[in-house]
Amino acid sequence: MKDLRFEKAMIIFAHPDDAEVQCAGTIALWIEAGVKVTYVVLTKGDKGTQDPAMTGEALARLRREEQLRAAEVLGVEKVLFLDNGDGELEVTMEKRRSLTRIIREYQPEVLVTHDPWMRYQLHPDHRACGTLALDAMISSRDRLYFSEQIDQGLKPCRIRRVLLFASDQPDFWVDIGSTLDKKMRALGQHQSQVTQWPKWEEWLRKRAENAGASQGIKLAEPFKRLVLS
Ligand SMILES: [Zn+2]
Repeated sequence: MKDLRFEKAMIIFAHPDDAEVQCAGTIALWIEAGVKVTYVVLTKGDKGTQDPAMTGEALARLRREEQLRAAEVLGVEKVLFLDNGDGELEVTMEKRRSLTRIIREYQPEVLVTHDPWMRYQLHPDHRACGTLALDAMISSRDRLYFSEQIDQGLKPCRIRRVLLFASDQPDFWVDIGSTLDKKMRALGQHQSQVTQWPKWEEWLRKRAENAGASQGIKLAEPFKRLVLS
């Protein structure tokens, strides 16, 4: 992973802003090294507000624009929106099927998603997203899973490296000292969210400092890494 000998990565996450909060420093490093990154956003984020004047529909529109702007700051090549209802993401075979199709279409070598096994992960979308992404990764690699996709001309995709963010058992840390500023700028595009968080820039920096502390890294993003044969 450190040697950046891969060309395509896919980030599958639940809400607009999850990728920026959790792994934008790493994504920025990869993109600067020439990696092509695809985002897959599973929900519309249409419940993330305390503003009584805001409707779910208007918020979903706004958050889509914010996500596109954040992706632009980082240089993410493509953003796919699957438009599930916020808080309503469920692990179903149909959703696994559609994510499998996307993985087979884009053929990423690296997958980044939520750690679905994080103890006490309360948000149902975060749990469901991690499970769906990993289940789809497994389905993608063998031709008899969702074989109609193979019949339609798609190729199986064998992803060998996975990074799980928001893990309570991290074992892989990325030094984001050179990209924290870009991460801040990307997250700052999510104005509908960051304006609800007091001192968010300070919080984000502290988070990166804490993540790296055990490793002697000044600013880091932590992951659980899975290496598959
Ligand atoms: Zn989220």
